[in-house]
Amino acid sequence: MECSQIQDSLSAFIDCELAPDEAALIESHLEHCGVCRQQRESFEAQHERLRTLFVERRRAADLVADRVNQAIRERPELGPSNAGCRCCFRQQQAS
Ligand SMILES: [Zn+2]
Repeated sequence: MECSQIQDSLSAFIDCELAPDEAALIESHLEHCGVCRQQRESFEAQHERLRTLFVERRRAADLVADRVNQAIRERPELGPSNAGCRCCFRQQQAS
């Protein structure tokens, strides 16, 4: 396989999106080709940055969820068990 073909497939290779035989071809190429190995390392660094960004976002979303859950615990009337359907809730308030 040519280096250019390998490098085209590297991103999919890192994401484990390749068929096992394709992945094996790339792996054996990487064993003896320093250029492609370097390319893979820079791809992996890039992926790692993306993963880190994603984890931080994920953590921020979890924090929001925690805050909402806590607010519901502190004010049970906001929680799903007492919310009922919206029209019943309005009727309750009117009476
Ligand atoms: Zn190569």
